Amino acid sequence: MKITLLGTGSPLPNPDRSGPATLVQTTHANILFDAGRGVVMRLAGAQLLPIMLSGVVLTHLHSDHVCDLNDVITTHWVMSPGPTMLRIVGPVGTMDFVEATLASLRVDIGYRIDHHADLNEGPLLEVLEVHPGETFTIGGETVLVGATDHRPVEPSLAYRIESGEQSIVIAGDGVPCASLDELVKGAGAYVQTVIRDDLVKQVPSARLQDILDYHSSVEQAADTARRAGVQALVMTHYVPAPNPGSEDEWRALASAFEGLIVMGSDLTSLDLDTMNVT
Ligand SMILES: [Zn+2]
Ligand SMILES: [Zn+2]
Repeated sequence: MKITLLGTGSPLPNPDRSGPATLVQTTHANILFDAGRGVVMRLAGAQLLPIMLSGVVLTHLHSDHVCDLNDVITTHWVMSPGPTMLRIVGPVGTMDFVEATLASLRVDIGYRIDHHADLNEGPLLEVLEVHPGETFTIGGETVLVGATDHRPVEPSLAYRIESGEQSIVIAGDGVPCASLDELVKGAGAYVQTVIRDDLVKQVPSARLQDILDYHSSVEQAADTARRAGVQALVMTHYVPAPNPGSEDEWRALASAFEGLIVMGSDLTSLDLDTMNVT
């Protein structure tokens, strides 16, 4: 299995970092987790088009994680040679969000159907809302659903993908909690969105201080990884964006975890077969 950090950014705009999105690839499947700003461009950077996806899985409906789902839907639709279903999985609320997205695209969908003789209908979507404790399959892989604590954002989900002997947890946003610990236990890789609370605390903005209580700090992510005994901690969704050359500072803050720590620019990937980071 392979993890690629398609977007390592956050809501704070950064020219070099796309919004939250992570690709998990197995021998059977290409699964996209979240669809933040610029996701289709970064998929292209990973040599993938939306039509090559097994589906899209959403952790929660914060705008930074879903704002380019419309682009995935449209590009999947217009590049499909014939009617092709796009699978979208997410928490309760995903159906409403997808319906609203389609409503916002209604004019464009009409233009394209009018213009292309071989296009007779709009995007074909299959939406599945899932709950903690459930499992579902996507691209032939089994995915277990867990709850995360990202309150007041509810529901907020994490996912554990099991393929052969390997497992990856996509934790999304949130602070440590028992249900996350349970899901992450013994995983090969644990992907966690992180913030540097030491840096955020220095910024004189009340609104920015609000983000501290519902995101894992680097130290908290390292503690979760240590408790769970994972092989690799993959950090993403950096707040603030790391200055070039400052990655070792972030790694030092995660030193409670003694396994492999992965972080980097967009398109950084970890191959679980070799534990190589590229
Ligand atoms: Zn969030
Ligand atoms: Zn976020």
